[in-house]
Amino acid sequence: MKKTITRLIAISLILGMFSGCSKEGAEETPVVESPGQVEQKLKTSTGEDAPDYSETLTTDVLVLGGGGAGITSALTASENGSKVILVEKIAYLGGATIISGGIVPAAGTKQQKEAGIVDNNELFVRDIFRPSSYSVRKDLVYTIAENAKGVIEWLEEQGVVMSLITNNLFYGQSNYRMHIAEGSGAGMTQKLISNLNDDENIEVMLNSPAVELAIEDGAVVGAFIHKNNSETILIRAENTILATSGFAANKEMLEEYIPEMVDAYPLVAPGATGEGILWGQNLGAEVANMKAYQGHGVFSEELGRSVDLNILYRGGILVNMNGHRFTNEHKGYSELSPEVLAQDTNNVYMIFNKANAEQTSQFQDYVDAGIITEANSIDELSAKLNLDQKKVAASVEDFLNGIKTGQDSLNRTLFPEHFDGPYYALKITADLRHTQGGLVTDVVGQVLKSDGTLIKGLYAAGGVMEGFSDTAGPGYMSGNGLLQAFVFGRLAGKQAATTKRDEAKVVVMEFEKEVSEEKPSDTETPDGDTVFKDGVYEGTGKGYHGDIKVKVLVENSKIKNVEILEQSETETIFKAAEKPIIDSIVANNTYSVDAVTGSTKSSKGIMMAVENALESAK
Ligand SMILES: Cc1cc2nc3c(=O)[nH]c(=O)nc-3n(C[C@H](O)[C@H](O)[C@H](O)COP(=O)(O)OP(=O)(O)OC[C@H]3O[C@@H](n4cnc5c(N)ncnc54)[C@H](O)[C@@H]3O)c2cc1C
Repeated sequence: MKKTITRLIAISLILGMFSGCSKEGAEETPVVESPGQVEQKLKTSTGEDAPDYSETLTTDVLVLGGGGAGITSALTASENGSKVILVEKIAYLGGATIISGGIVPAAGTKQQKEAGIVDNNELFVRDIFRPSSYSVRKDLVYTIAENAKGVIEWLEEQGVVMSLITNNLFYGQSNYRMHIAEGSGAGMTQKLISNLNDDENIEVMLNSPAVELAIEDGAVVGAFIHKNNSETILIRAENTILATSGFAANKEMLEEYIPEMVDAYPLVAPGATGEGILWGQNLGAEVANMKAYQGHGVFSEELGRSVDLNILYRGGILVNMNGHRFTNEHKGYSELSPEVLAQDTNNVYMIFNKANAEQTSQFQDYVDAGIITEANSIDELSAKLNLDQKKVAASVEDFLNGIKTGQDSLNRTLFPEHFDGPYYALKITADLRHTQGGLVTDVVGQVLKSDGTLIKGLYAAGGVMEGFSDTAGPGYMSGNGLLQAFVFGRLAGKQAATTKRDEAKVVVMEFEKEVSEEKPSDTETPDGDTVFKDGVYEGTGKGYHGDIKVKVLVENSKIKNVEILEQSETETIFKAAEKPIIDSIVANNTYSVDAVTGSTKSSKGIMMAVENALESAK
């Protein structure tokens, strides 16, 4: 049966916003009450009596966790007039966000316009949906896509310089929409931390883990904090935002939900131990996608980071310690991670040839780091690696047969032109970066119970929430992690600052009108109106070696012909793409067609050029 998604036509119904939230203690918070004051009604999330605490502080918004989601929530709540206290478990702010690549996808940004990239949210949401085969929550996905551009603009307002990456199509992205922060995750997070510290509405407490939520009459009224890792204090707040991330650093929870990744190299935030999720569950919150995660399948322990995944895409193979190839190597980095870990010793070899190494800009770094084994023949390489020569030779023979016939025993469809030596090998394992499951929320981050009602006073943002990458397993579109942290940091921060706890209502996003999951037609609006005028149009796209320029003929509102005017691609690779792509564009009357295996960059360059040409025809 054909799957469908519904297209968003109405923006969220924001119920209960701007409801005249009384800012208890807004002028003079934090307020210190007398030590030992007894609040008999207070409980923890488990229903037990509140622990003894020495002091009570009061604020408008309490943020638990100081990574990307927490910092964004705090800055946004302050922007909206709230006093905020942010508590961080460990000695420094930043969590996984500060060690991330700082790469955030968004469609329709000024950076894309300046680079001549035509993109839209419909294409963006399809890329997000694809890894889960359209099974994750559509209101979350549309919320993310609709707010991503605003996040890039907000980051820039915070002083973070965001540049569009146009020389690399990231795994899972069908268009150039990845924006990288100057200084990557560290540069981006340091800017935000500096703004946080300068904001006089925000108090930050380091080394001060939240140890439980404070519950009064079923609502969350703050949290108990181990201030400076010593005395327990109560921080009372109108609203509390959980920004404690997922459970990638909690072995017990990994064993329960994601056992296949327990042995992964833990490239995780040390504070991601999952207590925020558990507190929510204690209060009856629904959780979802707890088996989903993001890993990376080509991590070098000796190097302390991932190696270039493009080595595989350019024609490298993976061979396990028994000398066998075990997977189609042309998969996403996250998808490869459980497959690598399923091999003996959790380690495998990446084997590639000189032609491939010459295109690997970091190859010399690998040589300098001493992680490369080199040999003139596959037999010699096997001997140096202590692998069974016959088995490795058989694996390579099988791969060579795939190159010759286009049929691979492991269903690989992208092959190099040849696999001639000399050869190189490097040892890799897989890492785990973050988990993708967590508390179910509405579209502004208010935590929901299984019956769909709110846990009053409790919000979630970032990795502590239900993700939208996949319902289980390693499916992931590059950039989902930071998007979730920033988009929901913004939404939860604003909602928490502007909504009184007792007046909060579930915020829903309305959908109407079913549309096909299949690729959208370029010549029709969603209502079926023709938008392209007959004529001849020129457009430019980016190929592997530079611009590809095309001339598109539109007749009777249909794409009649595409002519290549200029290109500087490798001749054989471009020729392999040119005719099939143009034929497919004309036959399907759309620029969005399947790329030709082995000529992906040229294929996408032609498509982008046609898309840009058709833009002028609207
Ligand atoms: C190496 C690496 C590279 C990545 N690169 C990218 C990328 O380029 N693009 C992308 O989109 N995603 C990337 N990700 C994923 C992304 O970094 C995360 O999804 C995102 O940073 C999560 O943000 P967060 O605020 O929810 O969690 P975090 O940034 O981890 O912050 C959570 C914070 O909460 C604190 N905390 C936890 N429990 C408590 C408690 N009880 N009390 C107080 N504080 C607590 C933690 O100590 C931590 O500081 C990467 C991840 C890794 C590990």
